[in-house]
Amino acid sequence: MDRNLDVSLGQYQLGWRAQHTTAVVGEVLYCWGGRVREGLDKSHDSPTKKQYTSAIDAFNLLSGVWSSQPTSGTPPLGIRGVSCTTINNNIYYFGGYCGHDSCYHNSLNCLNTLILHWKELQPTSDNSVTKRAFGGMIVMGSEGGEPQQLLVIGGLAPKSATTPYHQFEYIEIPGVDGHVRTNEQNIYNLSS
Ligand SMILES: [Zn+2]
Repeated sequence: MDRNLDVSLGQYQLGWRAQHTTAVVGEVLYCWGGRVREGLDKSHDSPTKKQYTSAIDAFNLLSGVWSSQPTSGTPPLGIRGVSCTTINNNIYYFGGYCGHDSCYHNSLNCLNTLILHWKELQPTSDNSVTKRAFGGMIVMGSEGGEPQQLLVIGGLAPKSATTPYHQFEYIEIPGVDGHVRTNEQNIYNLSS
């Protein structure tokens, strides 16, 4: 899919986008999701959206060349403000804004960059983990040992997708109707 082919250069160029995620694995920077143009990401799920999310942009840090790589499996529906982190050759993606109405996700997905295949570790489900976007995620593990846990931190959520926990804060955002910013933290055990 030559989404951004620069005809004059004959080379793939990354077009404008916002609210995307980037992660570095080895010598490649992977750029996925985000807002690319009006209308494309307004649906919950559609062939057009699937076509967009099934490709990932890769920037080779050694050659300085962008390419668009096809992926297999089912990519996440949350595409804006998705948090991500890496372990070895895997990129983990949490949550994100779907692009329409107040549709946020709390799914956890893994992209194996060796085979560029998506795997859903947790589907979007109830609000026991607040559905949200624009937060962070880090890996926790014993030093020298295999990483065991992903820690999801904070973000922006519609009030309706929130189960307030007393130890965390959910603060309404002025000017953003029905949304809160939170410091909620959730741990995902990879081993179990
Ligand atoms: Zn949706």
